[in-house]
Amino acid sequence: MSRYMSARFDGLEAYVPGEQPQDMRYVKLNTNESPFPPSPEVRAAVNAAEAERLNRYPDPEGKVLRARLAEMYGVEPDNVFLANGSDELLFFAFLAFCDGERPVAFPSISYGFYPVYAQLLRLPYTEVPLREGFVLDPADYCGLGKNIVIANPNAPTGRAISTADIEEIVRSNPDHVVLIDEAYVDFGGESCLPLIHKYDNLLVCQTFSKFRSLAGGRLGFALAGGGLIAGLEKIRYSINSYNINRLTAAAALATLDSNGYYLENSKKIQASRAYAAAELDKLGFETLPSLANFIFTRCPRMEGGALYQALKAKGVLVRHWDRPEISDWLRVTIGTREQMDIFLDKVREILKEAG
Ligand code: PMP
Repeated sequence: MSRYMSARFDGLEAYVPGEQPQDMRYVKLNTNESPFPPSPEVRAAVNAAEAERLNRYPDPEGKVLRARLAEMYGVEPDNVFLANGSDELLFFAFLAFCDGERPVAFPSISYGFYPVYAQLLRLPYTEVPLREGFVLDPADYCGLGKNIVIANPNAPTGRAISTADIEEIVRSNPDHVVLIDEAYVDFGGESCLPLIHKYDNLLVCQTFSKFRSLAGGRLGFALAGGGLIAGLEKIRYSINSYNINRLTAAAALATLDSNGYYLENSKKIQASRAYAAAELDKLGFETLPSLANFIFTRCPRMEGGALYQALKAKGVLVRHWDRPEISDWLRVTIGTREQMDIFLDKVREILKEAG
């Protein structure tokens, strides 16, 4: 590290994103992207005419997109916040709502950025253990008296809790913000969005990266009461008021004109998820029930890291973490049916070679 680097980051362990090889050598099932390209409407919207306008800054208020999202979700534009991916949104929320007196809590096994943001901002934080089978027990969060961040469905497990359970958590922590990260809600899950009309401490975050095939565009959004949104806006205008670039805004708007296409893709992904889990079951794997576009699975005969490496050597990338609690497990993004067949074939090969 450079001697010019501030010592306050000495202990910080940065987030490690999944591998993004820039050639297409791999069947890429490691970062929960959609295997399907954006709809034709998106390709038409991000055209030469739009590129020509890149000499001008984008609308810092994102008015058109916020109005469209507001209409779609039955809220006012003041209830919608746009960010450069939900990662940025999460960072703004940690910055806006947490401090020494307002600590934050999240599940011990969840999205890796939560502890990184807490450490970066030097926030006191609690990692609430999951129960047997990676089950999140809502009772662990009721009346906790801390800000709370929960991914629902959770990552990397894919397990979800009900809206009734979320309501109980939100209702019992009236003086704290409850952030529900719904990055994976569009693959069979249920959004708790209607609750924002009832509770001013609920912040619901979603993303265009998964269901809307726009991971490369970087767009996340939050829906909440006007108070929380105004807080996020204050932070955004203090860091980067032009956080949504023109091409992304145009692409995102166009996805909203092709909802049918994305719903079809989601159905295909849900079918491939059930298929892959059933085939893995035949091979003796244990797979958690998932409502996301990935599955969390383990092979009783092979350590997770070894299976990850063997798959990589055969051209299939999945995600594995070197953490003792989950080192047996692999997170496998659901690709196309063809990609899942390649993945399954490689798994069968590897098990056969292992004898
Ligand atoms: N939340 C969760 C739970 C995620 O898994 C991810 C993606 N890795 C994100 C948020 C961030 O997604 P994005 O920044 O692409 O919107």
